[in-house]
Amino acid sequence: MITLNSIVRDLAQRLPQPQTIRLNGTSDIELLDAQLRAEVIRQVKDGTRVPGYLLGVGLDAKSVKGEQYHYVTGMQYLTPADGSGVANLCAYASPGCKFACLNTAGHGDPRMGDVVQLARLTRTAYWQYQRSAYWTQLIKEIDALIRKAKRKGMIPVIRLNGTSDIVWERTRVVVDGVTLASNIMALYPHIQFYDYTKWPFNKRETLPSNYHLTFSRSEDNHAEAMHNLAMGRSVAVVFNTRKGQPLPESWNGYQVIDADISDLRFLDANGVICGLRAKGYAKHDDSGFIVEASN
Ligand code: SF4
Repeated sequence: MITLNSIVRDLAQRLPQPQTIRLNGTSDIELLDAQLRAEVIRQVKDGTRVPGYLLGVGLDAKSVKGEQYHYVTGMQYLTPADGSGVANLCAYASPGCKFACLNTAGHGDPRMGDVVQLARLTRTAYWQYQRSAYWTQLIKEIDALIRKAKRKGMIPVIRLNGTSDIVWERTRVVVDGVTLASNIMALYPHIQFYDYTKWPFNKRETLPSNYHLTFSRSEDNHAEAMHNLAMGRSVAVVFNTRKGQPLPESWNGYQVIDADISDLRFLDANGVICGLRAKGYAKHDDSGFIVEASN
């Protein structure tokens, strides 16, 4: 039987050095060599290293699917949870979700090299240590995304927590000591922002009208997931359904929609289950994060 420990052992044996994957007892996965990570952080702090970009556009399969509906998505990928060593960006992460995080799916798979993980670490350190420059760059990139979408006759949308769970609605946009807006959504009131979150409903109940959240179920937040559904917020659930196979029709009495068809969660009806198929390391989860499709 494949277990979380056996898959990590297997991956660790196959990976080239110095990149390592190590389970440290709480399902934290170390995707970069500690010395390399420290060097990247040092360079970001002293200003000699900056992110190539913050918003990826058309770089991952999920957001590309939105283009058939005439949406172009700017997606930001940071280092999730406390994996960067500089900040914990996922206050409510569980052991299961840290292991199964989208961070290790697709281009983020460490078996494909460390370029993507280094870029995510650089952005995370930039966010943490160069906040003013971070906002300046993000604003520039959002403006470019809006122009690009206009040229293509498409609608720009933004997901800043591709692999993080920052409370953007309570994060002021401050550049060179000057507050530009109470949050990034207020700076772009006509642009749709959206994210998934594990924060309890009552801690993120009041949102800007252009910010949509989907609650994300883990192995340790079932009651909170049910509360979100009762309050009308949709809940993302990852099933062990194989690629190409149909998801269950319902879960705990709520309709399941296929959320793999696109990432455009703000178009969903309220209070539905956004069913996802396990990807990346999640396929090997044994924590309870992944739900049996028969449930
Ligand atoms: S909270 Fe979300 S982004 Fe953070 S580690 Fe868990 S699955 Fe990944």
